[in-house]
Amino acid sequence: GTDQPPVVIIGSGLAGYSLARELRKRDASLPLMMITADDGASYSKPLLSTGFTKGKAADELAQADCGAMAEQLTMEIRTHTRVTGIDPDAHEIRIGGERLRYRQLVLAWGADVIRLPDPVSGNPAVCSINDLEDYRQFRRHLGGHRRVIVLGAGLIGCEYANDLRNGGYDVTVVAPSGQVMPGLLPEAAASAVQAALEAEGVTFHLGVAADEVVGETGSVQVRLNDGAMLQGDIVVSAVGLRPRTRLALDAGLKVNQGIVTDRLMATSAPDVYALGDCAEVEGHVLMYVMPLMASARALAATLTGAPAPVQWGGMPVMVKTPCCPVAVVPPEVTEDGTWEVEREGNNVRALYRDSSGALLGFALTGDRVIEKQTLSREVPPVLA
Ligand code: FAD
Repeated sequence: GTDQPPVVIIGSGLAGYSLARELRKRDASLPLMMITADDGASYSKPLLSTGFTKGKAADELAQADCGAMAEQLTMEIRTHTRVTGIDPDAHEIRIGGERLRYRQLVLAWGADVIRLPDPVSGNPAVCSINDLEDYRQFRRHLGGHRRVIVLGAGLIGCEYANDLRNGGYDVTVVAPSGQVMPGLLPEAAASAVQAALEAEGVTFHLGVAADEVVGETGSVQVRLNDGAMLQGDIVVSAVGLRPRTRLALDAGLKVNQGIVTDRLMATSAPDVYALGDCAEVEGHVLMYVMPLMASARALAATLTGAPAPVQWGGMPVMVKTPCCPVAVVPPEVTEDGTWEVEREGNNVRALYRDSSGALLGFALTGDRVIEKQTLSREVPPVLA
C-alpha cells in the first residue's frame, strides 16, 4: 500500500547515490528515502585529491545539489540529519528523539578518518580531508600559506602531496613506514613513486612519526620522534580511514573491521544491508569506487526482488600521482609467492606469482600502467 515504509539509505556518498540510481533503473516507484549528515551534494570523492592540479574549489567539485538529486531520483533527502541509532527488531532508525520506520535499511555511511593522539590531531592547524566540506574548510584555512606538512604516506597522503605540489605548495611528507604506500606497493614501485615525487620537489621524512604539533596555522612546528623539528604553515593528516561501525555495534550487528555482510550485502540483522566504505563483504574491506559500484548494482537487484550475490573480479587500484601514475592489484601474500620486478627509471612492472607461476597480483608505475587491463584479467577474482 501507499503507507508502506520506504527503503531508507543512510549516507549520500558514492555508495548511497549509486544505489539510489541503480534502484531507480529497476523500479521507478519504490518508496525511497535518503538521510545524510552532510548537505547531500553529489560529488566524486576521488576528485578531492585532484583539486589543486585542476584548479577546482569545493563548489566546482560538486556535481549536483541535494534538490537536484532528490528530483532526479524521486526520493526525499533529509540533509544535515545524523542517524543516532538503529532498532532492527522494530525496523526503525533513531534521529535523536525521533523514530522512523523502514522497510529495508541500507547503511552507506562511509569511513572515519583515523585521528592521531591529541598532541598532534588536537591542534587546529592539523586538517584531514575526507569529504567535500573538509575540502572546503581546508582551502579556506590554507588561504595564502605555502608550506604544507602531510602526515601519512599512504595512497591518500601521496595523492595530496602530488596535488598540492602541482598547486605550487612546498610539501613535506612524514610517515613512520620505511616506504610510501606500505601494504599496497612492493618496494620497487614505492621507491619509483617516491623518487618521482622528490623530483617534483616533495620532501620525505620516512621512518619517523610526528609526536607533537605546536604553534598555529601560518607558523606550525611538527616535532618528530627522532628529535627533529619541521617548520610549516599547515598540516594535513592522512594516516588512514576506518569503517564507521559504532552505531551498527550498538544495534547488535555483527562487526569486524567493517560491518560484516554476505555477498548480498546483508548484515546479520534482517532487512539491514551495508554498502561502500563501511562494509566488510565476506572478509574484504575495499574502500574504493569500483567495488562499491558493483555492490550497488547487485544490491539494487536484491532489493527489487532478484537477489544477486556481488561478484568482484580483479580490480586495479589507480593511484592519482600524476608524476608517476600507479596501477596495483595487491596480492594475497602467500608462503611461496615472489615478486618479479622489471624497472627502468621510474617505470616499474612488478608481478607477484606463486610457485606454480600463477599471477596473484601486480604493481605498475609510470609507462607500465598501460598493462593494467591485460594483467587484471589474469589475477584471480576477489569474489568469483
Ligand atoms: P562517503 O562518501 O564517506 O559517504 C558517507 C555518507 O554518510 C556521507 O554522506 C555522510 O554524511 C553520511 N553519514 C555518515 N554518518 C552518518 C550518520 N550517522 N547519519 C547520517 N548520515 C551519515 N577510490 C577509488 O576507487 N579511486 C580513487 O582514485 C580514489 N581516490 C580517493 C581520494 C581521496 C582523497 C579519498 C578520501 C578517497 C578516495 N577513494 C578512491 C576512495 C573512495 O572515494 C571511497 O571509497 C568512496 O567515495 C566511499 O563512498 P561511501 O559512499 O561509502 O562513503
